[in-house]
Amino acid sequence: MSAEHATPHLSTREYIELEERYGAHNYHPLDLVIERGEGVWVHDVEGRKYMDCLSAYSAVNQGHCHPRILETLREQAAKVTLTSRAFRNDQLPHLYKALRDISGLSRALPMNSGAEACETAIKLARKWGHTVKGIPEDRAEVIVFENNFHGRTISLISFSSEPRYRKGFGPFTPGFTVVPYDDVEALRRAITPNTCAVLMEPIQAEAGVLIPKDGYLKQVAALCRENKVLFMVDEIQTGLGRTGKMFAFQHEDVRPDAIVVGKALSGGFYPVSAVMADDEVMGVLQPGEHGSTYGGNPLGCAVARTALDVLRDEKLVERSATLGQAFLARLKTLQSPHIVEVRGRGMMVGIELDIPARPACEALMAEGMLCKETHDFVIRLTPPLVVTQEELDWAFERVKKVIEAL
Ligand SMILES: *Cc1c(COP(=O)(O)O)cnc(C)c1O
Repeated sequence: MSAEHATPHLSTREYIELEERYGAHNYHPLDLVIERGEGVWVHDVEGRKYMDCLSAYSAVNQGHCHPRILETLREQAAKVTLTSRAFRNDQLPHLYKALRDISGLSRALPMNSGAEACETAIKLARKWGHTVKGIPEDRAEVIVFENNFHGRTISLISFSSEPRYRKGFGPFTPGFTVVPYDDVEALRRAITPNTCAVLMEPIQAEAGVLIPKDGYLKQVAALCRENKVLFMVDEIQTGLGRTGKMFAFQHEDVRPDAIVVGKALSGGFYPVSAVMADDEVMGVLQPGEHGSTYGGNPLGCAVARTALDVLRDEKLVERSATLGQAFLARLKTLQSPHIVEVRGRGMMVGIELDIPARPACEALMAEGMLCKETHDFVIRLTPPLVVTQEELDWAFERVKKVIEAL
């Protein structure tokens, strides 16, 4: 490497200054600069070490820089990385098979970001609504839920109920009905003959780990079936083991018509997302009607397949269930007048406070633990699923110290 290409070593303050000067200010990160990660741990440029309890919003369920995924990335990067879908590649069919195996849905459509996959699901639903259900063209409605998070594109923020995500970004995309979450009757009232789909997070993670009542998903699925409406779940954050099942909808005995995945599908190495659905839904797309230059590229497909293999071979879904349950039980014993609720499923825990959670996250950072407040009042704890019991014990002591000092 020539000298001018070597990355200069700057201090935390200098990196932050550069970022503030030259970047868009669309995030408010904690003030540390990470240069390296391994498993559940990350290291900053000052040589400090932290336990990552955000896991890049659950994209690194397999842990940072998982050696097997890294090996696949290296091998595939040296073979071929991008063919475009103008040609076929030898990696995509293997990913299709792997996605079919985990979902039971017969087909998949690969994209890159989670937002793109959600957009894809909506396009599929609208087209299915018109061509299969017989909804008049341009009249299809998709029902979504208050406090949803599906991504940042214009169409996805069009039905956000979070003012910050929307303000100033209009005009918005029509065709969405927003109803309260965890309220079957509200959903029933919102369904019309033009409803083509319900798009739902089985647990609302960004909203602050909001878990619906037992039986809700089942009732929603039944309502969808009765009305010939597609039941589509966004499992981008809740899926791939995070909540103690491969998919969060599996906590109830339902079978969605479409599943959207992203984030941990690549274990944090590379953006890979996908929509899975059966023939009747996926079959509405004809050549030329939808696509993505990078979607389904061989590098992403190879990485995703190994990322899924790691989930299976290291029993990360089972670990999430058992270690997560014990972690949650311990966190529920925390004593603080500021705790409103401690809730969670698998290795996704939210501690809701009656005061802003940011100072607690900053105090946790000082203790060597990285968390990010969500929706201002909730500390979300979502360590990589490779976390050990000893590491969780360590984390618990930190959380206890910080919370009980609030
Ligand atoms: C992160 C997330 C998305 C958006 O994914 P991006 O890759 O950031 O576009 C969509 N839905 C849910 C539930 C998410 O957590």
